[in-house]
Amino acid sequence: MAVWTRFQQFITGNSALARWLILFVIAGLLYAVFRGYLRARKIQPNGFRWQTFRNEIFFAILNLAIGATILGYITSTWTAKGIITFNKAPTTWWVVGLEYAAYFFAFDTYFYWFHRLMHLEPIYTWVHKIHHRSTSPNMLTTLSVSPLESIINGGFLALFTAAVTVHSSTMMLIGPTNIFMGLYVHAGYEFFPRWWNKTWLTKWFITTTFHDQHHRYFNWNYGGYTTIWDWICGTVRPKFLTDFDQIKARTNKSLAAAGAAISSGAGT
Ligand SMILES: [Zn+2]
Ligand SMILES: [Zn+2]
Repeated sequence: MAVWTRFQQFITGNSALARWLILFVIAGLLYAVFRGYLRARKIQPNGFRWQTFRNEIFFAILNLAIGATILGYITSTWTAKGIITFNKAPTTWWVVGLEYAAYFFAFDTYFYWFHRLMHLEPIYTWVHKIHHRSTSPNMLTTLSVSPLESIINGGFLALFTAAVTVHSSTMMLIGPTNIFMGLYVHAGYEFFPRWWNKTWLTKWFITTTFHDQHHRYFNWNYGGYTTIWDWICGTVRPKFLTDFDQIKARTNKSLAAAGAAISSGAGT
């Protein structure tokens, strides 16, 4: 549990902002190292705009200052009052698995429907428009949401843990999933292979391209963790599959060209 507490303190405790900035610098350094690998996988190669990036920094700070503070207050008050409780008893891996799956699919459902609601006027203008100022997402876009949207989406965890007493060990998986999935869908790079959306086993799990297209084309691809609700409700962008294929074809072409350059360089 000590690891979890430390992790929580790391992301929300004192000087959390400084830590986020350090992480951001590390991400920048990693980008420099893996530039070629990443460049081949970029979803929108010409999508970056400095002005949008400046807006994202501004709204990310505003959101961390207001949204995260209010969420933190709600969570700590509910924990103190015993509304949010955790089962600290030891448990088996499959109980943790079931609890985790319950959270995963419940959040996905909650996110999908609230997200569709947030696309209706006047809610869109008041709540969700800030996040859609970024038409070519990067990881910072994850935090660039209005404080109200942050409370709506982040509030799910408080509601879920108030409704269901999960084990502490499940919570150790749920917390990072929340952060990781946000960063993953906004990464701006497609890491999954070309066949991903073609098999029934894998196509339900969201790809970065899927959410990237939500930012680019707005009224399609509303899912957060999965594509299930979009497939059921017919909101998958009709050109999504062909575009995914084209993006991956570009990746393969650029990697092949890099490989050819290396081998011809080695030959001379
Ligand atoms: Zn949206
Ligand atoms: Zn987004």
